[in-house]
Amino acid sequence: PKIIFSGIQPTGVPHLGNYLGALKQWKDMQDTAHHSDRLFFSIVDLHALTIPGNADKLRKNRREMLTSLLAIGLNPERSTIFYQSSVSQHAELQWILSCTASTGYLSRMTQWKSKLSQSSPFQSDQPTISSPALKHGLFSYPILQAADILLHTATHVPVGSDQKQHLEFARECVTNFHSAWSIPSSRPIFPYPQTISLDSSSRIMSLADPTKKMSKSDPNPKSKIFINDNEGVIRQKIKSALTDSVSKVVGEYDSVNRPGVANLLEILGGFSGRTGREVAEEIKGESLLGLKTLTADTVVDGLAEVRERFMLFGQDTEVNRQRVREIEDIGTRNARESAERTMEKVRRAIGLS
Ligand code: ATP
Ligand code: MG
Repeated sequence: PKIIFSGIQPTGVPHLGNYLGALKQWKDMQDTAHHSDRLFFSIVDLHALTIPGNADKLRKNRREMLTSLLAIGLNPERSTIFYQSSVSQHAELQWILSCTASTGYLSRMTQWKSKLSQSSPFQSDQPTISSPALKHGLFSYPILQAADILLHTATHVPVGSDQKQHLEFARECVTNFHSAWSIPSSRPIFPYPQTISLDSSSRIMSLADPTKKMSKSDPNPKSKIFINDNEGVIRQKIKSALTDSVSKVVGEYDSVNRPGVANLLEILGGFSGRTGREVAEEIKGESLLGLKTLTADTVVDGLAEVRERFMLFGQDTEVNRQRVREIEDIGTRNARESAERTMEKVRRAIGLS
């Protein structure tokens, strides 16, 4: 049986790119999993601390992400949905793994460099490991990520291309740990986690500038559709999406010369499991206005249930708060149980019990 693990940072309500590129795949995985497979979806709030300073916002974002995961159709009776910080074993295993993880390897990884240059764009030099702005939590982020995965002995981890390097690092952590503590390969503590690539799923671009990806960190609200946007807002945003006037009809799929059109085709395809190219073939000759209407209809329809559940789980009523607390409790309990099973073996293997 497979053990599937994935995490998402609590950084606000997910947008259409997060949905089509990741969350919808989580839901599909849940629905097509064999009954003996286990699924873990974590709201990785410890990772969120790498951007520190706003406690109220983090509190709100955690809760909003839980609402979002329930809204996209994750079922707490089928999938273990939990806050990373509720399961202290994540931090415990991170420390243990950090004692056998290579600093050199971490220093060659790209994420801390790009995050650092994003946060201080005026620095002309490449960020280095001795930059005062580089905090250790950001640097060692991949170790915590490895701990997340290994703690639940995940066998399969769905990730986008930006995370493949981190999965490779997690496998390196398995090797280092087993070797340092002389764990026989016949009786490994951690399986090597496999990557499930989400790259074949759509990459959704900004509605305001289709040469950039749709992104949470883009401050322009018109650049993205949130999964809880209402019908009017969705229609408005798609209507004003930047396309082009190259030709007033849809032709071949051409993401280089007609990125705005290609993006709408990708969005359309994302809801039906087709590529933008396939959709282009199908609606060749359609007007741009027709394409926008079709896209708006599809997104409104495709997100209808998500939006409905978002309203339901997001309600601020006593009954709902109680229900959400129960869901949090189930997730925490299941995740702790899974974590403790692994940690007992780990502690025994390294002399801590
Ligand atoms: P940020 O701009 O802060 O990096 P983000 O919008 O990229 O935020 P993440 O939290 O980095 O969101 O990503 C969450 C998941 O959504 C990841 O699996 C990522 O690959 C996927 N994802 C993010 N943006 C898109 C997009 N535009 N199209 C498809 N998938 C996306
Ligand atoms: Mg991102």
